[in-house]
Amino acid sequence: MSKPTAPPRPGTVHIAGAGPVGLFLAALLQSDGWRVRLYERRREYTRSRMVSLADYLTADSIDTYRTDPLDGQNVHAIFDRDQLEAGLAYRSTMAADLRGLLEDWTRGFVPLNTIERALSELIASRATGTVERVDQELDPGSALAMLDPGDLLVDCTGARSLMRDLLVPGPDPAERDRNTTRIRMEYALVITFLYDQDYQCNELCKYYKNIGNAAYKFIPAVRRTHYDGSTSHVTGIVNIREQEFDALPPTCTGGFLRERFPDIALSMDQFIDRIKAETHGQIIGDLQVVRLPLDLYRARHVTSQAWQCSGADHPLAASPVFLLGDSALGSPYFQSISLGLEASFVLARHLGNPALTLQEVFTRWEAFMYRQWIRVYMRTQMLKHDKDLLESVGDNSSLLGKMHVF
Ligand SMILES: Cc1cc2nc3c(=O)[nH]c(=O)nc-3n(C[C@H](O)[C@H](O)[C@H](O)COP(=O)(O)OP(=O)(O)OC[C@H]3O[C@@H](n4cnc5c(N)ncnc54)[C@H](O)[C@@H]3O)c2cc1C
Repeated sequence: MSKPTAPPRPGTVHIAGAGPVGLFLAALLQSDGWRVRLYERRREYTRSRMVSLADYLTADSIDTYRTDPLDGQNVHAIFDRDQLEAGLAYRSTMAADLRGLLEDWTRGFVPLNTIERALSELIASRATGTVERVDQELDPGSALAMLDPGDLLVDCTGARSLMRDLLVPGPDPAERDRNTTRIRMEYALVITFLYDQDYQCNELCKYYKNIGNAAYKFIPAVRRTHYDGSTSHVTGIVNIREQEFDALPPTCTGGFLRERFPDIALSMDQFIDRIKAETHGQIIGDLQVVRLPLDLYRARHVTSQAWQCSGADHPLAASPVFLLGDSALGSPYFQSISLGLEASFVLARHLGNPALTLQEVFTRWEAFMYRQWIRVYMRTQMLKHDKDLLESVGDNSSLLGKMHVF
């Protein structure tokens, strides 16, 4: 059951992109009484990769919000207690139907398109008549042109954001990555498979099952194994060189990898053979192999505030634009959806606060997203560093060479 519908608010929130984050924001704003138009270029949700969401999304106290050993202290250092409390207070008003979905998804793995379909169905089933879904690919000009006075645009179009690089005032707003700070962590193959027995992985397992894998190591990522009662879902990463990345197709099967890149495949197969020897099971179906550059990036401007302050005669100077989700900030190691959903709570809270002017909402959103960036930057560097060390365990000189000890 949803919470009682709030009174209608002035203006329409135009959300570009109905991926997981755009849909989640739409569901929040719908129960807060906003009129929403949601634009999506895809006709179908076909991304079936398994994703996992962070526990902090359903936390109901500061202590439960900070239980992640890699994140808890960072959160304590970066956010003030009253900011965390305001966030938790807003979250406690979340409609029960949405909370139910979130609680389900934080228990284990879920296909990405299950999240997208479930949110779409939830929005439609509420039948508020306030959310209109538009099957349309937007371009920046048309996105800005449709804003009436009092309207807002929230860009949730993902890593290749529609608006990100336009948010810096200046003569050549089309220059790529003009508004983006990008750090390449590594090139990786993300390998996912299903296994018909209960298989749990920890750091000992990651080390011992890689013994003998000298050139490449298959490392199941943090929280990347999950047993649902009949099947284990496993996702791991193999670090590869840039030339290998260039030579690989964006996705491939295990068979293709064995035939064309036998050394990389060997690390994965040896790891899997050791799982089988231990738990006597079989792989279900084929392996899914995705080639990815693992980038950490952020938009330096996550709103059109700089244009508004510039006084320029430009549509962005008069159009409130916010970046959210992968449009604003992206991180490897399977954390981004959670960051996007977490940020949706904060944006919905600020937009719905009648005491704030638009300028204040801009300022708060810029400040919050900078803190989110510091948070994910610290966590990502720690994950990568720990992974690098794990790959060198057993080789003392390599291990010590990666340490910088005071
Ligand atoms: C292999 C892999 C595994 C992952 N696993 C995890 C995980 O376990 N946990 C996790 O948190 N994250 C994971 N991620 C990252 C996660 O998938 C992304 O962070 C997430 O999809 C971002 O959501 P989003 O809504 O911001 O953007 P997207 O999912 O990219 O959605 C953007 C939407 O906007 C639409 N769109 C784009 N341009 C336009 C336009 N011009 N007009 C209209 N519509 C447009 C797109 O069609 C799309 O539907 C994984 C990523 C990969 C590649």
